[in-house]
Amino acid sequence: MASALNSEIQFLSGVGPKRAALLRSELGVETFSDLLHIYPFRYIDRSRIYRIAEISGEQAYVQVQGVIASRTLLGPKGSIATAGGGPIPFNAAKRLSVIVNDGSGEMEMVFFKGIKWNYERLAPGKEFLFFGKPSAFNGKLNIVHPEVDTPMVGGSDARGTLTGVYPSTEKLKNGGITGKVMCKLQSAALAMCLPEIKESLPDYILMENALVPLTYALRNIHFPSDQYALEKSVRRLKFEELFFMQLSLLKQKYVHSRGTVGIPITKVGAAFNACYNALPYELTGAQKRVIREIHNDMKSGHQMNRLLQGDVGSGKTMVAVLSALLAVDNGCQACMMAPTEVLAQQHFANISRYLSPTGVRCALLTGSSTQKERREIHAGLEDGSIGLIVGTHALIEDNVIFRNLGLAIIDEQHRFGVDQRARLWAKNSIPPHVLVMTATPIPRTLAMTLYGDLDVSVIDELPPGRKPVRTTMISDAKKGAVYNFMRKQIELGRQVFVVYPLIFESEKMDLNNLEMGYEEIIRRFPDPEYKVAIVHGQQTSEVKNLNMAAFAAGRAQILVSTTVIEVGVDVPNASVMVIESAQRFGLSQLHQLRGRVGRGADESYCILVHDFKTSAEARKRLELMCATNDGFEIAEEDMKMRGPGDLEGTQQSGLPIKLSIASLARDGIMLNETRAYADKVLDADPTLSLPVNAPLLAELRKGKYDIKDYSKIS
Ligand code: ADP
Ligand code: MG
Repeated sequence: MASALNSEIQFLSGVGPKRAALLRSELGVETFSDLLHIYPFRYIDRSRIYRIAEISGEQAYVQVQGVIASRTLLGPKGSIATAGGGPIPFNAAKRLSVIVNDGSGEMEMVFFKGIKWNYERLAPGKEFLFFGKPSAFNGKLNIVHPEVDTPMVGGSDARGTLTGVYPSTEKLKNGGITGKVMCKLQSAALAMCLPEIKESLPDYILMENALVPLTYALRNIHFPSDQYALEKSVRRLKFEELFFMQLSLLKQKYVHSRGTVGIPITKVGAAFNACYNALPYELTGAQKRVIREIHNDMKSGHQMNRLLQGDVGSGKTMVAVLSALLAVDNGCQACMMAPTEVLAQQHFANISRYLSPTGVRCALLTGSSTQKERREIHAGLEDGSIGLIVGTHALIEDNVIFRNLGLAIIDEQHRFGVDQRARLWAKNSIPPHVLVMTATPIPRTLAMTLYGDLDVSVIDELPPGRKPVRTTMISDAKKGAVYNFMRKQIELGRQVFVVYPLIFESEKMDLNNLEMGYEEIIRRFPDPEYKVAIVHGQQTSEVKNLNMAAFAAGRAQILVSTTVIEVGVDVPNASVMVIESAQRFGLSQLHQLRGRVGRGADESYCILVHDFKTSAEARKRLELMCATNDGFEIAEEDMKMRGPGDLEGTQQSGLPIKLSIASLARDGIMLNETRAYADKVLDADPTLSLPVNAPLLAELRKGKYDIKDYSKIS
């Protein structure tokens, strides 16, 4: 059956092969339907006619209506072109100048093209409507190449509405696809397609959410009958887009969680209580809430897949340990996987301490575990005597066999692939519950999109008594002051991080930078009074661990490093974080680095050193860092400044789902609304098999809302 919606764009009247090629390459438009989904990004108010006297040259677009006072043809270099009393031949004229009077003043309309045609129709005494961008030239106002129309009667008629402005490029304009032509094409496409367009949302959804029908929305997004119709149409189209996106993600989760039996982790037993009662501090309200959420999931009979988000220092480790003990109390084992060896060791050291009152056996397995250690650990995991194992990727190797793995905890999500998550699943006949922890403060809206298949818990409260890190920015010309400050802090018994950026194009140059910085610091902080450790990616893990350990144990006062310390390392005595070439870091990364200090009781400082190459945009980032310590606020701002596709930490280029109208950065409230609503719809009909939901299933089957590339997510 011939369908207009799927027709190739070249067959739309006014297009043809040449323009079709342009539309394809510039806007990705292949079909009539694709074109209809290119929406205006703003609208010009054509319901208003300006008085010439009120135009300043500052307005973007104006519409004036007036009588032609005079018209003049101008030749080369502005010579007034008359020949024998009459106008010179049109082909010799270079410019047409028309003076329009509307009673409030006069204004010039200028034409460089279509001179003959405009000269003839713009006869003195006749009235016209002009539309265009005003500019001031030699103190006089003019519009170059205005749109010219017959005058409106009574000040307004059918044209007196909002006109859409479409995304465009130089190539499109040069190829003749101007704003006006784009409007014509949209009008033609609408005429062909509207009769075919099927409502994508069931009636009950339209009613419950007060949404206008799709055909109405498509007509009015392109050609709004008024501001109100436009607003309703924008709302409808955004709702649709976000709703289907959430529906698609949540449906996968429903299928998944209902289909996958989970190990029942019901009772709270001796190990949990022993650890809990021995805690040196009270858990924060957020930690308690999250532990409840996790317990509720694990006892539900379904498999848990939960993302735990919490800013650096929010106390995720303790939540992980208590969750692991819930598993142990129910006859299961737990594992905790960290992205680096250093982190795994640190976790192991902390966790062993927390576990000492419980009698639960804990072990560490990494790439550098010896053969003998491995043999013992493998045996302990197989016979179930090890309750909690901490490690790196070594944990997912095939020869690691658990007696009964009940909970897998993954620290720092963004360095872990979905594939690796899947390999953990395979470690037990009933897949273990999965808890993914991340300190990357992903904005809630984005987390909801990217991790739609995971439930999200957030620790949104820091342990009490933590002082915000005082952050300042300073030009590298004033480094002397930074060194003095470092010296004072070291005198007080504190330690200092100095971090250099790593830029991937030239690792050699980065290393040079780092080594030059290191040498400078050694000159300024000479042995034996000061000890300076250095850590970077080119070192063997042995050397790296040795140097890191020297700093962690307080044997070195200064640690010079690349961003390898970004993740996790806990040195409570460190009170100063100096970030060199801070303008080169993204916001999230700066925040992660800053999180390395402020962990002890003392006042802590972050010093952002930047150089003359700092752009205005980078300066804004640094200023934001100085203004707030709130990771989520920083992440939201980051997303607004850079657009969600560039968000750091998720390592994605472009979102895995293409949105035509909604914006994750700006439409967060509607995203929440649509997610809750999609949840409600699925709760009533998890497989969308009720007849009333048939349109939903049909829309999802088109595949537009499938996540294209999971590798972009984690
Ligand atoms: P992160 O979320 O960054 O992994 P950690 O779990 O490493 O944070 O906790 C950071 C520090 O805060 C640790 O030294 C930990 O012992 C401490 N801590 C955790 N929870 C609390 C709490 N409720 N009260 C006080 N200190 C806490
Ligand atoms: Mg941590």
